[in-house]
Amino acid sequence: MRKKIVAGNWKMNTTVPEGVELAKAVVAGAANVPADVKLIIATPFTHLCPVAEVVKGSVVALSAENCADKEKGAYTGEVSAAMLASTGCQYTILGHSERRQYYGETDAKLVEKVKLALANGLDVILCVGENLEEREAGKHFEVCGNQIKNVLYNFTAEEMAHIVIAYEPVWAIGTGKTATAEQAEEIHAFIRITIADKFGVQVAEDTSILYGGSCKPSNAKELFAQKDIDGGLIGGAALKADDFIAIALSY
Ligand code: PEP
Repeated sequence: MRKKIVAGNWKMNTTVPEGVELAKAVVAGAANVPADVKLIIATPFTHLCPVAEVVKGSVVALSAENCADKEKGAYTGEVSAAMLASTGCQYTILGHSERRQYYGETDAKLVEKVKLALANGLDVILCVGENLEEREAGKHFEVCGNQIKNVLYNFTAEEMAHIVIAYEPVWAIGTGKTATAEQAEEIHAFIRITIADKFGVQVAEDTSILYGGSCKPSNAKELFAQKDIDGGLIGGAALKADDFIAIALSY
């Protein structure tokens, strides 16, 4: 059965001491969250080791926000999947639209990143989503379908057990504009069918598909009530432990 997941993406926010305090507050609040809702916090690379100590022994899992598309070597400034795994984190986000938009992350690079993450024992939260122009042109199904096919169709059904998908319409990220529950549900259902087409119905049913884009305590309940929405990837609201926990309590 697929997991319900509420994952926070801190992006490039907080210093290390601030991040440690935020993680402590999330761990404290997690005590109230039902056991069937998995909590994940994705922090900047610099925060992973100290935050791993904070979440150790708690129900909160730790994620990175990206990893290198190369195994190791002369790639100055990059952080490999093996390095991430050695910090104690269990997940990495890959393919966030900010990385696709500002850092030239292509589907081909993402295939390499997903391969390396899985090979190093990390689970992956793969982001897909259309931008405003694509939405207005009615191309959202095509764009998301292609992102899924270009990346995930290179993997096996067994590997899919270690992959979570996050549908994040780019026009809703950090803009305060949320997709309506109906808009989100129709794409989530479509993504599930796209997974079923390649891997079969059971794998599709077992894959968690999260919604991301201005999700907050006031709209989480309606979004999470949709049949194919299995939780959220939360940006801005994850920087306040109370809001993040309130979103998790919306289930
Ligand atoms: C995100 O960047 O993953 C995200 C969903 O951001 P926000 O919640 O701030 O829109």
